[in-house]
Amino acid sequence: MTSASQGPSPVEPPSPQRAGPPLIGIDLGTTHSAIACWQGGEPRLIPNALGHTLTPSVVSVDEAGHVLVGQAAQDRRISHPQQTAEVFKRAMGSAKRFRLGAREFGPEELSSLVLGSLKRDAEAALGQAIHEAVISVPAYFNDTQRKATKVAAELAGLRVLRLINEPTAAALAFGLHRRNDETSFLVFDLGGGTFDVSIVELFDGVVEVKASTGDNYLGGEDFTQAVANALMQQLGLTPQRLEADGQLRNRLHGLAEHVKRALSTEKNVRGRFAWDGQERDYALDEATLETLCADLIARLRSPVERAVRDSRLRPDALSHVVMVGGASRMPLVRKIVTRMFGRFPDVSIDPDHAIALGAATQAALIAQDEALSEVLMTDVCPYSLGVEVSEQISATQSVHGLFSPVIERNTVVPASRTGTYHTVADGQRVLALNVYQGEHRFVRDNVHLGSLTVPVPPLKRGEVTVEVRFTYDVSGLLEIDATVVNTGETHSLALLGNASSLSEEEVAQRKDNLARLKIHPRDDMPNKVVVTRLERLYAEHSGPLREAVGRVLTEFMAALATQDPEHIARDRKRVSQWLEQLDVSPLGP
Ligand code: ADP
Ligand code: MG
Repeated sequence: MTSASQGPSPVEPPSPQRAGPPLIGIDLGTTHSAIACWQGGEPRLIPNALGHTLTPSVVSVDEAGHVLVGQAAQDRRISHPQQTAEVFKRAMGSAKRFRLGAREFGPEELSSLVLGSLKRDAEAALGQAIHEAVISVPAYFNDTQRKATKVAAELAGLRVLRLINEPTAAALAFGLHRRNDETSFLVFDLGGGTFDVSIVELFDGVVEVKASTGDNYLGGEDFTQAVANALMQQLGLTPQRLEADGQLRNRLHGLAEHVKRALSTEKNVRGRFAWDGQERDYALDEATLETLCADLIARLRSPVERAVRDSRLRPDALSHVVMVGGASRMPLVRKIVTRMFGRFPDVSIDPDHAIALGAATQAALIAQDEALSEVLMTDVCPYSLGVEVSEQISATQSVHGLFSPVIERNTVVPASRTGTYHTVADGQRVLALNVYQGEHRFVRDNVHLGSLTVPVPPLKRGEVTVEVRFTYDVSGLLEIDATVVNTGETHSLALLGNASSLSEEEVAQRKDNLARLKIHPRDDMPNKVVVTRLERLYAEHSGPLREAVGRVLTEFMAALATQDPEHIARDRKRVSQWLEQLDVSPLGP
């Protein structure tokens, strides 16, 4: 009944010789998360309480008010959709609230619950406390989203050693930093809800991300949706019908996920779907899937082209194309990449594991692990940073609210750049420097980061010159120095940065609130997963199967009530086997 694959090499408890804290990397994914540790000169995945290396990024609250994270929560998505939250990574940095039963959570709180669960699993496996980690974020995450990720870590009691762009982590997982020659790679990461493309260059033992682009709203989930729409039609269902019946919609979605994944290894998939006393056949083949997903496939192109353009490299100068993210397993996705580059991509590392492995490698790099001491890492600023300006377009007319980038997107950090600006009115006494990040021509479409008011001497229009220096460092701290050339006076402002947007008291307060939550005990997770799986099947089905599931559920509850660990383990094995032979697709995510 597992859906997640097992790690190749299980982690070992720490050896007495190796001093220092464990070097941890975390892939906080939209649909799945994973945690890895640097051990014996290589990164290794750490399995969760169920022995899985992937933990679904899903949070649920059960009847007892206990918080569940991972597989059990994912199953409750079907049986208890009102108490379950998922894909909250997409809402990171926003004010969106998620209602779980009687409680409300922000996206960073839900992420912190996932991080906390990974942390406890890793602590149990390593027998050591974990206080810090490298955490991956999509390259496309803006500052607000990155900050929210840091807040999530803080709430989980983790110090962020560094936020690493997911494609950078992928490059490290593929060992690109260990190559001695000068090479450039493209990292293609198609996950559940995000698509990232990066061009990574290796030169003299330095790994540098030359360009990162992507689409925050494109991922495997969209392919599942396309399949679900097709199945809906085949089965004679309507959007209205699904709208009215959430459980049926969830089941259809589950079926679509199952069919989509099956088509990654098979040419065609067929089966029978039953609901409300009706039953119909469905069938889908590779070619049909390709037609259904034509628009999505087309959308994969432009970020790839943009990344190549931004990097100013010729496509044939790329020595490797690396594919990661679960959805890159789809043959049609591999096909388009092969076609675009005229060669086969590198898929040698499990696409679901690469990011976590790379993040742990980054943790080791930071700790200057001796095996890697030669390697440096640099990164790029993922968005442009600049100020608001007005431009005169004729003797009498000006356009206001324009964006003037000082540090352009994809500039290698740390970076320091200067822009020169002038007053626009006679006798102007202050220059308001409004700082923005983004790629749009008008500042109203970009993200406002802060303002700095610079007093200037009242001269004629254009006679006052202000030099604005932007300095952006690896940890994301932006410093702005504005020097009035006429007077030599300098004014400064520090923005973004490592510090989270919350004050210490706020963090303490929110941590306290989270600490009050009862987290479902880790040791009991395998039992909980069996119970939620049975509950899910009960909710999904009807007739004799439903009755059988109900009976097994009652029996298993009785076994749990004995509180005899051996008896419970035996019965859990029996029920797990029963569930496995029960051929009701789809099982698992
Ligand atoms: P994220 O990093 O966004 O959490 P993952 O890298 O875990 O995402 O990828 C999740 C996506 O990969 C999901 O949309 C899932 O359906 C898809 N996926 C996983 N395995 C397969 C497969 N064998 N074939 C097709 N898609 C898959
Ligand atoms: Mg991912």
